[in-house]
Amino acid sequence: MIKLTKRQDEILEIVKKNGPITGKEIAEMLSVSRAALRPDLAILTMSGNLDARPRVGYFFNEKYAVKQQAERYLNQKVADFKAHPIVVEKSTSVYDAIVQLFLEDVGTLYAVDLEGHLAGVVSRKDLLRAAIGNKNLQELPVSVIMTRMPNIITIFPEETLFEAAKRMINYHVDSLPVVKEVDKQSNTYLLVGRITKTTITRAYLEIMEEKTN
Ligand code: ADP
Repeated sequence: MIKLTKRQDEILEIVKKNGPITGKEIAEMLSVSRAALRPDLAILTMSGNLDARPRVGYFFNEKYAVKQQAERYLNQKVADFKAHPIVVEKSTSVYDAIVQLFLEDVGTLYAVDLEGHLAGVVSRKDLLRAAIGNKNLQELPVSVIMTRMPNIITIFPEETLFEAAKRMINYHVDSLPVVKEVDKQSNTYLLVGRITKTTITRAYLEIMEEKTN
């Protein structure tokens, strides 16, 4: 994606508002000569920002703008969108985990060991399944029902929202723990956040709202 100059941005705005518009008219609005505008108009048409038609003039390429918007959305970093992880210690009872789920208003809890390293993921359905089959939820630790390392699908803060979205879809999960590596061989990770399907939707809305402003 090329970075436009201030003048090129001004031209884009003019064409967006007034297009189709001729080079002569744009030059008049900017109080410059047509010749001075020629290189900028060439760059804007070659890059795909503008379309030009003989005897009609320049007009804004809406499809290109939407594609650029989508690219900007998908290339944003996990670090900038991650939410606070909701954590339970892995010896916490299923009963207390269910209470926690309601108190924090989340769909997934992450279980950590005593060192604070990621040990497991506990979803709504994991808790429901445990609740159906067991009478004594106060005695049952979440470590028995959680999905545990090394089967946890994680993401790093420096990865993109695109990678997060793909991973959640490919693995059929609603959220990903955002982690920093402590020791790869022993699968030891520090939990630093979470990305959920809601995060992706929110980022999408933010970018699209920016567009209409
Ligand atoms: P739910 O179970 O409420 O539909 P999910 O679709 O996220 O929520 O979870 C489905 C299953 O996948 C659960 O057993 C859960 O423990 C597991 N799971 C959830 N997130 C992850 C993840 N990031 N990595 C590995 N397993 C996960």
